Amino acid sequence: MSYTSWFEAHAAKHKTIVNKLQKQEFTKAQIIDYFDFENMVQAEPDFCPLYAEHKKCHEMESLNCYLCACPNFRFKDDGLQKIEDKTQYSFCDIDSKDGAQGIYGESIHQDCSKCSVPHHRSYVEKHFDLDWKKVMQKCVL
Ligand code: SF4
Repeated sequence: MSYTSWFEAHAAKHKTIVNKLQKQEFTKAQIIDYFDFENMVQAEPDFCPLYAEHKKCHEMESLNCYLCACPNFRFKDDGLQKIEDKTQYSFCDIDSKDGAQGIYGESIHQDCSKCSVPHHRSYVEKHFDLDWKKVMQKCVL
């Protein structure tokens, strides 16, 4: 799956859930609460493939799924640049100390597996918008 197809599919799923919650007049705080991993596993099993195994993408006690993937992620399906004989497809715009550039054969992709930045409730509160695509608008290059 390309970055773009994941991005569009995830945006659509996110929008469907937010629209549903808005119809129920959820407040911002209630929407953020709803996107807590423990609730999402039960309430929205199709939102993330990891939910089926009750598996978190990052080991943290309270993990919020509202801003998955991450507003700091940058990608280009056609490739960003050549680095020696490899092609870079993504990177972290804030160069998080917990992120890394992963090399997979001839491809370089941002590896966020050790970074929990977008999954903290405080981060979600600060960057919150009902429109997920608006928060993520800088991700697509
Ligand atoms: S390394 Fe962290 S801050 Fe950077 S894009 Fe990945 S999750 Fe976001």
